Amino acid sequence: MNKKVILVTGASSGIGYDAALELARQGHKVYGAARRVEKMEPLKEFGGVPIKMDVTDEESMQAGVKQVLEAEGHIDVLINNAGYGYFGAIENVPMEEAKRQLDVNLFGLARLIQLVLPSMRERKSGRIINVSSVVGKSVLLFGGWYCVSKYAVEALSDALRIELKPFGIDVCIIEPSGIKTEWGHIAADHLAESSKGTPYEKTGEKMAKTMHWGFNTNYLSSPDCVAKAIKRAVNARRPRTRYRPGMGANTMLFFHTILPSRWWDAIVRVLGK
Ligand code: NDP
Repeated sequence: MNKKVILVTGASSGIGYDAALELARQGHKVYGAARRVEKMEPLKEFGGVPIKMDVTDEESMQAGVKQVLEAEGHIDVLINNAGYGYFGAIENVPMEEAKRQLDVNLFGLARLIQLVLPSMRERKSGRIINVSSVVGKSVLLFGGWYCVSKYAVEALSDALRIELKPFGIDVCIIEPSGIKTEWGHIAADHLAESSKGTPYEKTGEKMAKTMHWGFNTNYLSSPDCVAKAIKRAVNARRPRTRYRPGMGANTMLFFHTILPSRWWDAIVRVLGK
C-alpha cells in the first residue's frame, strides 16, 4: 500500500474520527482537523497529528494547511468531512443560521480545496474526497438549508472533477444515508429550538423527538461503514466518483430518481410524522 499524507476535517467525532483512525492504522500519515482538538488525541497512537481548525476561520485553515505542507512537503488527500445540520422550517431558520450552515458545509470545504490545490497541481497528483449525503440529491422534511448545503457540495464536486482532470487530481463524493453519530441529535435540537412558538411547533417537535429516538437506536448504520468507503476512495488506484455507504442509501436514491416529485413529497411527509 502506498503511504499517503492525508488531511481529514471533522476528525473529532463520528465519521471523521473513525475514518482518521482507520487510515492512520493502515499506515497513512493522518492530520485530523477540528475545533475540539482534545478529542483527536487517540490519533497520536498511530502517528496521526491533531490540528485545531475551525472551517469558518480563514486564519486557522491557512495555518492548518501550512503546518501539513511544512512537515510533509505535500498533501496527497484532502477529506472534507466537517459539517452539521441546522434543521428547521425554511420560514423559521434565521438567515444568519442559514448562512452559517453554508459557511461550514460548503464555503469551508471550498476554501480548504483552494488552499491545498496549488501543491497538488504542482505534483500533478492528489485526491479530494467530499462528504456529501443522500440528501445532496433528495430532501428531508425540515432539512431545507442542510439539503441546500449538500446539493451545493454535489455540484461543486462535479464541476471540480472536470476542472481538475487535466492536473491528475481525483474528486470523489461520499453520499451516506443516516449514520449513528452526534449529527442527528445536533440537527434535532436545532429543529426543536427553531420551531418553538411557531406554526411548525407541533410537527417540528414531533420530528425532533423521532430523530433523537432514531439516532439512539441501532436501526442506523454505524460510522465505520462510511470510514470503510472513505478508505476505499483513498486507496483505490482509480477511485469511483461516488460512494453510497449506509443502509438504504442506494434504494432511497433509486426511488427518488424514478418516482414523480409529488409521490416523493408524500413519502417524506409520512416519514416526518
Ligand atoms: P458529527 O457531529 O459526529 O461530526 C461532525 C464533525 O464536524 C465534528 O468533528 C466537528 O468537530 C466538525 N465540525 C463541525 N463544525 C465545524 C467547524 N466549524 N470547523 C471545524 N470542524 C467542524 O457528525 P458526522 O460524523 O455524522 O458528520 C460528518 C459529515 O457527514 C458531515 O458533513 C455530515 O453532514 C455528513 N453526513 C452525516 C450523516 C449522518 O446521518 N450522521 C449522513 C450523511 C452525511 P468540532 O465540533 O470538534 O469542530
